[in-house]
Amino acid sequence: MNAPATHRFGPEPRHVTRQVEIGGVKVGGGAPVVVQSMTNTDTADVASTTRQVADLWRAGSELVRVTVNTAEAAAAIPRIVEKLDMMGVRVPIIGDFHYNGHTLLANEPACAQALAKYRINPGNVGFGKKKDTQFAQLIEFAIRYGKPVRIGANWGSLDQALAARLMDENAQRAEPWDAGRVMREALILSALESAQRAVELGLPAERIILSAKVSGVQELVAVYRDLSARSDFALHLGLTEAGIGSKGIVASSAALGVLLQEGIGDTIRISLTPEPGASRTQEVIVAQELLQTMGLRAFTPMVTACPGCGRTTSEFFQELAKVVQEHVRGKMPEWKISHPGAENMTLAVMGCVVNGPGESRHANIGISLPGTGEAPSAPVFVDGEKTVTLRGDNIAYEFVALIDDYVETRYRAARPD
Ligand code: SF4
Repeated sequence: MNAPATHRFGPEPRHVTRQVEIGGVKVGGGAPVVVQSMTNTDTADVASTTRQVADLWRAGSELVRVTVNTAEAAAAIPRIVEKLDMMGVRVPIIGDFHYNGHTLLANEPACAQALAKYRINPGNVGFGKKKDTQFAQLIEFAIRYGKPVRIGANWGSLDQALAARLMDENAQRAEPWDAGRVMREALILSALESAQRAVELGLPAERIILSAKVSGVQELVAVYRDLSARSDFALHLGLTEAGIGSKGIVASSAALGVLLQEGIGDTIRISLTPEPGASRTQEVIVAQELLQTMGLRAFTPMVTACPGCGRTTSEFFQELAKVVQEHVRGKMPEWKISHPGAENMTLAVMGCVVNGPGESRHANIGISLPGTGEAPSAPVFVDGEKTVTLRGDNIAYEFVALIDDYVETRYRAARPD
């Protein structure tokens, strides 16, 4: 008889990368995977950009990127950083530069100083003969102001000269690669060669993060596996132009989930197109939930809820699951300080007796609501033991109070004597 196959449980060991510090936040080199996001306000509008950065930070974004595309946007950066500081919002701000970054940084030294990192796109830093000089200027600003950079290549703005060179080389091959592979190689080389050039110009490798984003899931996985195997720079993961709604969430999670499982990626951004009127903070919540559901980090207690079925005609358990998730998410900024460890708590809200008691016993606190035809009572389980049965119209209120009591008892930070 064959020996049973052994299956590894959990992610593979993280790829060893150089650690980069961005305004006090460590990325790579074994640090926890960092969640970042990007604003979609006009950066020149100081009030709305400051507000959105603060919202993203409150949602849990550990780095926030803003576009710096005009002289007005560059002039706004020091004011935004100052306002955030006055509000007690301590989050490093990254400037996203395209085409004119060298000019903006030269004309606005206060912007160059206030930013915690510069994002440079090697595909549009300049064209023709200007490309090398303008790239060098950007790197010199990073050296002068002591800032890290992200060299972020993108499928949508690929270095055309490099792509043409690789196409020519490919034509000479005895067995030419397909066009997709040539383009992937161009994207990877754009990031690697630019990083090499930055190092030659004097920027330490510990101040460089790389990304090479595409919008297809399989392409992204292939590109990052390759990039990771060919360098030890810290890597920023993201599926570019992921899309709107569930498509964007699913595509990003599929691509990033595979890579994170393989130990690839030091910081992530989920590039969601917000639904009209929806909050920008959704991309932060998705990034956190991806990392937490994969067991890589814990940010907020997770609610296990059944999908519901014909055994329960009531939507009450769906509403309760929502109330509970929103309650614990809303409390987490306070609990983080007063009740550290509460983010690891697990909760269950279940719709009937079939899986309700079992699933609830697996959680720190779980409730099994009555399905159709069951007695109108909801047993609550705490750390696997049934402790109380809730009845009547106040089940939601009472269950939330039980959660708060549990957090108070189990996670209250030791008070100094
Ligand atoms: S726990 Fe009950 S209500 Fe929920 S999906 Fe399972 S059988 Fe349906």
